[in-house]
Amino acid sequence: MTEVFKGSFTQQDPIPAEGIAAATAVMQHGRLHRYNEAAGETAEAALLEQEFAAYVGAEYALAVASGGYAICTALRAVGVKHGDPVLTNAFTLAPVPGAIAAVGGTPVYVEVTPDLVIDLDDLAAKADQAKVLLLSHMRGHICDMDRLMQICDAAGITVVEDCAHTMGATWKGVQSGRHGAVGCYSTQTYKHINSGEGGFLVTDDAELMARAVMLSGSYMLYGKHRAGPGPEVYEEIRYETPNISGRMDNLRAAVLRPQIPLLAGRIAGWNARHNVVRDVLHGLNGVYLPQAPEAAVRVGSSFQFLMRGWATERIEALMAACAKRGVDLKWFGAAEPKAFTSRYDSWRYAPVPKLPKTDAILAGLIDMRLPLTFSLEDCDLIGRILRDEITKAQS
Ligand SMILES: *Cc1c(COP(=O)(O)O)cnc(C)c1O
Repeated sequence: MTEVFKGSFTQQDPIPAEGIAAATAVMQHGRLHRYNEAAGETAEAALLEQEFAAYVGAEYALAVASGGYAICTALRAVGVKHGDPVLTNAFTLAPVPGAIAAVGGTPVYVEVTPDLVIDLDDLAAKADQAKVLLLSHMRGHICDMDRLMQICDAAGITVVEDCAHTMGATWKGVQSGRHGAVGCYSTQTYKHINSGEGGFLVTDDAELMARAVMLSGSYMLYGKHRAGPGPEVYEEIRYETPNISGRMDNLRAAVLRPQIPLLAGRIAGWNARHNVVRDVLHGLNGVYLPQAPEAAVRVGSSFQFLMRGWATERIEALMAACAKRGVDLKWFGAAEPKAFTSRYDSWRYAPVPKLPKTDAILAGLIDMRLPLTFSLEDCDLIGRILRDEITKAQS
């Protein structure tokens, strides 16, 4: 019998009942804007920032309208100006080079390794080309953060971390997003906590955060922030920083707050699902499974593998065969960008360099979501279907 999987790769868990109740309360009182507080009240957005700062162990946190907005704001706050080059990994998603372009910068792409992290040798070679690195922990793969920070510190490069796929992940016990000057996160539906749209940026740098708060559209109400610096830090910054509205509202904040304590359990759930698929595919001929360094604790909310050296037609046939059996794969090697999947040579508003190592990796890179609505049995079935079709495709 040919087994077929019937689940949806895009179905998330519902919002916890507590979040629904809190969101309903916000709608009932009507004070959705984060600075609209009744006497004696602290807005949901301000409380959320305090709770998220505590979760990642940061001095300051700012909640904003999206992950992409958090990255743009971080780039502006660290001083990226029109025409500035910004280093970034070539394997990432469109909002990353998009954020660089939004502030008038130019992405300078760094190669990736078969373990899907930034190539640190290539980074070292390009370290004199920019003063800022936007490091995308794409699909949750974490590079050797000690060596990355050594390279960047030695070259005077400010690091902005894109943690859209690493909220809750750690390097040597330190939260992802806490190694560079700023960490940026997304709370969009497909990430680790879900408010439809939303994001955070975190830092320990008071001036940087004051600029970010002003940029996010705080008018002169920055005093209402509970996870921001004191008023003295804003003395000059409040006159010098433009308002580029992108605030978080209390409705989304209410939906998010009860999800922060759930993160640890969700991460365990994702990693268990990820490991089931990994164990089924382990050692399979023709497949490379990216390896994580010992010091990294990933969040396995998606699964990647490399079909190294496979011809286009063979990969296309494999994807079609898997789709027929209900297993929805994405491929970074397709000639045309599709849905969420595009690559550096699709982003033609910026210079497209020659990156032979990255090209060879993306050509065989398969990507799959693993939502928590899948059971471990579902993941085992998905793994068996993949193993079966990969074996067939090579016979
Ligand atoms: C989703 C995502 C972002 C941006 O998040 P949005 O909240 O959708 O703006 C940034 N980087 C990566 C790698 C992402 O996947």
